[in-house]
Amino acid sequence: MNNPTESATNRSKKALIIGISGQDGSYLAQFLLNKGYKVYGTSRDAGISSFTNLGRLKIKDKVSLSSMSLNDFRSVIQVLSDVAPDEIYNLAGQSSVGLSFEQPVETYESISIGTLNLLEALRFFNSSSHFYNASSSECFGNITNHPATEETPFRPRSPYAVAKASAFWTVSNYREAYGIYACSGVLFNHESPLRPERFVTQKIVSAACRIANSSQEYLNLGNIDIQRDWGWAPEYVEAMWKMLQQELPEDFIIATGKTSSLKDFIRIVFAQLGLNWADHVQTRPELIRPTEIMISSGNPRKVKKLLGWQAHYSVEDVVSMMVEAELADKRL
Ligand code: NAP
Repeated sequence: MNNPTESATNRSKKALIIGISGQDGSYLAQFLLNKGYKVYGTSRDAGISSFTNLGRLKIKDKVSLSSMSLNDFRSVIQVLSDVAPDEIYNLAGQSSVGLSFEQPVETYESISIGTLNLLEALRFFNSSSHFYNASSSECFGNITNHPATEETPFRPRSPYAVAKASAFWTVSNYREAYGIYACSGVLFNHESPLRPERFVTQKIVSAACRIANSSQEYLNLGNIDIQRDWGWAPEYVEAMWKMLQQELPEDFIIATGKTSSLKDFIRIVFAQLGLNWADHVQTRPELIRPTEIMISSGNPRKVKKLLGWQAHYSVEDVVSMMVEAELADKRL
């Protein structure tokens, strides 16, 4: 946790988290504060954002907040010049795969053009800041043979994944062309109680807890045979930080290395509440996406070997912590 010597070394370091109000932004802010960083964060409109996640972690008054819209170049250069950060973490953008089919332009602009604007600003300032970009396992599409490595080609299957793949290659190009310290973490799914209910894991946990508390509702889901690698978000933010401590920037896959089906996830949640999932879940054709990834699995060997990072929590642990938090929140 908090190492006093390390905190002293980091005391003068400034980190800028773009998208600090989200799940990862809030856990990363907490992690960097514990390391002694001065933490700055942005939201599209810091004046009206409630920063609920920072409030839940009790750190809202410990970070400096400002407004930045990644698609507005002036707001990008204004914040970069005001803060002059040592490290920049780009976690902002439309982050829902499902919503990306409904809002493809917003998704593409916030992720691809947003990342390009940040890189252009770093190039404009001739900046030596270390830059982290939040990429995604969705870029790989279906992974049918071996778990994906850093060498596996991208075959994106959603507007979100196309946008993330474009941002990934823009980061790679700016690193190579201009010598900017920029890298992408290709993160597999990671969950926590800070996940909003529009993401399927939290939707399942919240509905199951209501059903355990006598709600008569059914949980309606799309394809429950999909397989994903689910990790614990608070430990994934450490991998982001480790990536920026390297002498030279490199891209990494961040995953647990273990894949489970959504049906397994559902079963574990309901079993933890003493319920049989099959009595409470309905699959609905209208919830099936136009194109879906059936299997997603990642090989985290490089991050373990070079950065000494590995996931410690299994999908069972993740479910258990999410259910406990939901029960405590709702005082069920
Ligand atoms: P999140 O909770 O949705 O947070 C993303 C933040 O981006 C939001 O708090 C929001 O901040 C901002 N944002 C949302 N929609 C936007 C839009 N249309 N235009 C511009 N900004 C927008 O996401 P997260 O789970 O913390 O994930 C962090 C990053 O990692 C995201 O880029 C996500 O795509 C990526 N990622 C996540 C996972 C995962 O499993 N969680 C896996 C792989 C990659 P404001 O509303 O305050 O502006």
